[in-house]
Amino acid sequence: MTDRKARVASWTRKAVARLKPYYKAPLAGDPLRLDQNTTLFGNNPALAKVRTTDLDLTQYPTRDSDALRLALADFHGLPEDRFVCGNGGDELLDILCKAFGEDGATIATPWPSYSLYPHVAQVAGLRFHPVPTKRGFAQLDVDGMLAAKPRLAVVASPNNPTGTRFATGEIERLAEGLDGVLVVDEAYIEYAGLKHSFLPRLDAFDNVVVLRTFSKAYGLAGLRVGYLAANEELARMLNAAKAPFNVGVLPEALAIAALDEQEWVDAGVKAVRQERDRMAAALAKRGLKVHPSEANFLLTEPPAGASETADLLRRNGILARTFTDAALQRCLRFTVGKPEHTDRVLQALEAMR
Ligand code: PMP
Repeated sequence: MTDRKARVASWTRKAVARLKPYYKAPLAGDPLRLDQNTTLFGNNPALAKVRTTDLDLTQYPTRDSDALRLALADFHGLPEDRFVCGNGGDELLDILCKAFGEDGATIATPWPSYSLYPHVAQVAGLRFHPVPTKRGFAQLDVDGMLAAKPRLAVVASPNNPTGTRFATGEIERLAEGLDGVLVVDEAYIEYAGLKHSFLPRLDAFDNVVVLRTFSKAYGLAGLRVGYLAANEELARMLNAAKAPFNVGVLPEALAIAALDEQEWVDAGVKAVRQERDRMAAALAKRGLKVHPSEANFLLTEPPAGASETADLLRRNGILARTFTDAALQRCLRFTVGKPEHTDRVLQALEAMR
């Protein structure tokens, strides 16, 4: 067995052999999932409206999800050749690294941020360059990002796990100063009260890509559909780089139907924004430091320690997100759901007093 391990390692790229597996949730006891920023408001109504027997699954989908791109074009008011669809935003991040990251080139991101960035970068052979945020987690260090001379810069806004939305002017300054591609990851943008944000102005930039997902405000994390929008040249390059047929017929049909459920999306976003304020105040009252958030989660610093608090919550059937990264060791992140979910957290925390 040891021999096999060594042999497999000898065939594996060094960067891949060194990879630590990505976070896997401990799911024993079927806990309340407050660890992955997904909706707690039930299934998107689109699910009940798509008649699966009307779909033809004997054939592949179109190569580049043409019907979904048309629907996105209609929704965002952009031509359809500006879109690239993927198996979740995560696949698109992978494709971006492969397409624009030469072996050994640098990818820079404000840090802390989404822990998948270093992972996909490492797999693609890129050098990962985290640039600490300024004023706590609040501000982009644009000059620090530019000094890294990255081929690819990725800025999540609102950022995960901090919840911060960076100033548009700063993001634009980064785009303008960069000799490389800037990915603005807007996975949580709906919770900031914005629907189109950067998208209408993408043609003004040679180098900006906006990433979106159906996994958060659309409530479809299990569907695995995300998309990006960019100018026609970037989109053409990325559509060429990705695997054909990468979004299935069924997820594509559901994603299109979900775009028609804006009222449901808006109601969920409104409820989360309300509860976010209440939860932040209630946690602060119990002594947790709560970082300001424009997303559907709150990053906190519990006085009793992150892992101690997470253990206590787990014993009470609640999963919150802990981090191994040094910048986040004191931090615990909670998804914002309904008042009843917050109340369960508050009740469990009472036991620590
Ligand atoms: N970007 C950020 C910042 C995220 O937190 C996530 C989801 N965890 C994604 C992108 C991608 O999500 P998905 O692959 O589900 O579309």
